[in-house]
Amino acid sequence: MRLCSGRDPAALPVLRAGNRPGAEVTLRHTFPPDPQISLRERMVRDQVERRGVRDPRVLEAMRTVPRHLFLSGLERSSAYNDTPLPIGCHQTISQPYIVGFMTEALALKEPETVLEIGTGSGYQTAILACLVRKVISIERVADLADRARENLLALGIDNAEVIAGDGTAGCPDRAPFDAVLVTAGAPEAPRPLLEQLASGGRLIAPVGGRSMQELELWTRTRAGFDQRRLIPVVFVPLIGEFGWKE
Ligand code: SAM
Repeated sequence: MRLCSGRDPAALPVLRAGNRPGAEVTLRHTFPPDPQISLRERMVRDQVERRGVRDPRVLEAMRTVPRHLFLSGLERSSAYNDTPLPIGCHQTISQPYIVGFMTEALALKEPETVLEIGTGSGYQTAILACLVRKVISIERVADLADRARENLLALGIDNAEVIAGDGTAGCPDRAPFDAVLVTAGAPEAPRPLLEQLASGGRLIAPVGGRSMQELELWTRTRAGFDQRRLIPVVFVPLIGEFGWKE
């Protein structure tokens, strides 16, 4: 297990995202405006908000996190396009709209702890880290986990912990989690991840075939689980003990 930082995330100041008129939300991290800010604002307005994502904290997190810094080479110039993009090791960073949609669906609250399965570049991890107290993210490909850790550290994000390994079994020694976000497609919602939800906890995951899935939203209730199907999606496969076999 490797940490992004040893600082106590509970001690972090909550910063006010006040660099735009009407930005009345609080995030745990904000970043100074950079030359890509107008592309990012357009991405949020045209790709995310216009398609129905409304949570002001999610929108503000997507406005402030510099998505281009999670991409390298030629892909960086396409960072704000309406598409998933390659991040190496045959994996992808998700389309901005899907990041916004999944994050909003979890209805996150500031003091919560989130488990993410499939760190990839670390971009979605950074969005989550702006919104909640603590993020634990597991990535199966060790090279990607290393790069994601570097990306998060470079931005000073110290409430996200990246672990290299098979995330389908979750992280039992750190459970329960208020929310679980799975960023790779599974044949079914992995049972260990559902079991590691706190009461009232939510899990979102792409579930279905290897080439197409639906986003499923599960909520742990006193009686068991509520399950809803949201929208069709296409994700890379979740490979592991409780996912697809290679
Ligand atoms: N959210 C990421 C981002 O912002 O860049 C993109 C995630 S990508 C669509 C899915 C990731 O899930 C890949 O990096 C892949 O290696 C990872 N993955 C697949 N199976 C996994 C498993 N069993 N445990 C952890 N990560 C897994």
